[in-house]
Amino acid sequence: MKMEQINVEDLQELEFSENESQSFFDRISGRIFKQNRDLDVAAGMSSLKTTEALLLLQNYEETRQGWFWSTDKAGNITYITQTLAEVLDKSQAELLGTPFLELFVKPDDEVPSQRTLSFILAKQCAFNDLKLKAVIAEEDRWWAISGKPQLDKSGEFVGYRGNGKDITAQQRSEEESSRLAMFDSLTGLANRTSASKTLESTLSSFKKQKRTCGILLIDLDRFKQVNDTMGHLAGDDLLKQVAKRLTKAVGKRGEVCRIGGDEFQVLLPDSDDRGDLGKLSNKIILSLSEPYTVDGVRCIIGASVGIAISPFDGNTSEDLVHSADLALYAAKGSGRGRFHFFSEDLQQSAKDRKILEDDLRDALANDELSLAYQPIVNAKNDIVRGVEALMRWEHPERGPISPALFIPIAEEANLIKSLGEWALNRACHDAVKWPSKFIVAVNVSPIQFADEKLPAIVSSVLKKSGLPAGRLELEITESVFLEGSEKTEKMFADLKNIGVRLALDDFGTGYSSLSYLQTAPFDKIKIDQSFVRGATLPGSRNGAIISAIVALAEALDMETTAEGIEAMDELDWIRGLNVSHVQGFIYSKAVQAEELVRLVEKGEWIVTPNGPAKFRHDRISMYRKVRAIHENHCYSLMIRNISETGALMEGLWDVPVGTKFVIDFGEGQLAVAVVRRSDKQQQGIEFEQRLVSDGNGGLCTSRRVSPYLIAEAGMQIPNIPADFYPKPSYPTAVNGIPSFYTSKKKA
Ligand code: C2E
Ligand code: MG
Ligand code: MG
Repeated sequence: MKMEQINVEDLQELEFSENESQSFFDRISGRIFKQNRDLDVAAGMSSLKTTEALLLLQNYEETRQGWFWSTDKAGNITYITQTLAEVLDKSQAELLGTPFLELFVKPDDEVPSQRTLSFILAKQCAFNDLKLKAVIAEEDRWWAISGKPQLDKSGEFVGYRGNGKDITAQQRSEEESSRLAMFDSLTGLANRTSASKTLESTLSSFKKQKRTCGILLIDLDRFKQVNDTMGHLAGDDLLKQVAKRLTKAVGKRGEVCRIGGDEFQVLLPDSDDRGDLGKLSNKIILSLSEPYTVDGVRCIIGASVGIAISPFDGNTSEDLVHSADLALYAAKGSGRGRFHFFSEDLQQSAKDRKILEDDLRDALANDELSLAYQPIVNAKNDIVRGVEALMRWEHPERGPISPALFIPIAEEANLIKSLGEWALNRACHDAVKWPSKFIVAVNVSPIQFADEKLPAIVSSVLKKSGLPAGRLELEITESVFLEGSEKTEKMFADLKNIGVRLALDDFGTGYSSLSYLQTAPFDKIKIDQSFVRGATLPGSRNGAIISAIVALAEALDMETTAEGIEAMDELDWIRGLNVSHVQGFIYSKAVQAEELVRLVEKGEWIVTPNGPAKFRHDRISMYRKVRAIHENHCYSLMIRNISETGALMEGLWDVPVGTKFVIDFGEGQLAVAVVRRSDKQQQGIEFEQRLVSDGNGGLCTSRRVSPYLIAEAGMQIPNIPADFYPKPSYPTAVNGIPSFYTSKKKA
């Protein structure tokens, strides 16, 4: 039989005892093994069949769909298909006698099966379709290799026989689909699956090397509104622009991933400096808050960032992401457009929030809510123009809880509508008892504003209480403009038809765009305290913006109110900018309804401003318990007035100037400080390393003591345990305040 007379169809007619689902190639090679065995066992048997099979194989080899190999017992090649030798740019003769293993690249972590092969060959086992890599002309080639050990008559191992085929194309397409599965098709960034894999592997290898790793979780503020009002295509375009800005802001420092709709994650290996991470977060927030052009329309969104650092805030990817999530939640809760570091109390506050939510459901029924009223004063003559109703919650166990904490909870828990309606009702019923010149302002949540029933509720409350509409002012924030313009315009028109006044609250914390002042019928703009406070910082343009708002407001016949004025210098400054009204502690805090009735009974209420001469920007007033360590002794002290460079500490008598302490702020935050001034039980201390902003008006140490170090010292928690340093036994105490102890003093 001539070789060319055999074709593939003929081959398929051969009977095979092997599994029919095997590939043709596997079947024929299986057949030849069997043939060979038969030959070994029954030598001299008619060789016609064998010759035919050999010819078939030869023909098959020539099709280049697969190849054969055999080795001796030492693993050196005794046969290799000619076509394969050609692929390897060698002759068959050159390959004979060389180790079979040398056809493949050396074992590495990337291709563990390479190691498996040498193991299998040594063990003399059979193997099937082992995926192996060869490098041919600098190109990666992938082969699937099968092999069977061969035994002689006495059962002695004599070598291997096997086959192989090229699976490079299949491997490439597998790699491509797994690459696609790791990327977000919209932005081209790594996706959630890839982000968590990278984080997991980074953390596990960093753990061995005791390295740190920071992650930032970034959530876009107001993205949903843009997506809802401008459409999903616009939303997609915006996300692409966000991804670009984010990648640029992070640069080579870390890897940016998109882990959900409008959530991104940045992985920052070897980053534990909170000063640096805070700066990077600010840079990201500023960059993402710059205006975008989408579909030719300008829009602004913002971003909040939660930061967690391994190993301090979590050792596993799950824990670290959970910590960063809590930090992000806190950042959003404290006003958005901020960053927040994870700290242990956030864990507690997440639990607290759930409890508060449950308690808030019963607060109205249990009569725990009340309204307090803070005067809004004419800045020129100190005459009170009206009051703002501020909700107060007296929790039966916890005492007073700030509305800054419970209002967002009420908004999320779908309680704000009933709380808001209650406040409107209460305020109107209180206000009818005051002289008719006093206006009452009530805060209206954006959720209430989006409710079509709001005008009907307002009308009904006015009717029931008998308060003239012109004496009620509704305070709303800029976020109501994001609801979609037609709905918003209708709501404005309906409320104006009733005759109530409208005030734009918290100006300077959101969009701060002057454009809607011209379109929305506001009677007043309230400039947020953070905007006022930021105005005196060097380089701030807030002062110029406030002047512009005042000019615009005057032209549009609107009043202006500056919120949060506490010190005389601020009042003078705000008066200089021609702001018409002031609301702040400099005049009065909020007072109870009963007291207010008494204060306004004369018909006119004039308040004299009273407060500190200057507002201190740099010092944060606080009262915080810390531990101060000196010479193996530990003191419990109070820290007041802390700044980046120093603090005032209290609670230790008679400490010499120049004394060095290690101040333990908790959670691994240790700062070395030197006493610069000392007066009886108070000392002014200077930190060796500046503290850094915690993103929320507080300060923290830039670095923390690594839990690795603490573990090495045999401690469990990232704080110095209370009994780690003995309390000083030096007995002298003045007024119960312990005296400072030093070995020198004792001597
Ligand atoms: P807001 O509407 O901007 O109210 C002004 C806040 O500034 C009040 O905080 C007030 O006590 C505080 N404040 C006034 N003067 C000063 C000052 O000189 N220094 C400082 N540091 N703060 C000053 P409060 O009462 O804690 O309320 C916080 C926020 O909670 C309010 O901010 C408002 O957004 C919300 N809120 C309060 N009551 C209600 C309500 O009945 N309904 C709704 N929806 N929100 C409310
Ligand atoms: Mg308000
Ligand atoms: Mg406000």
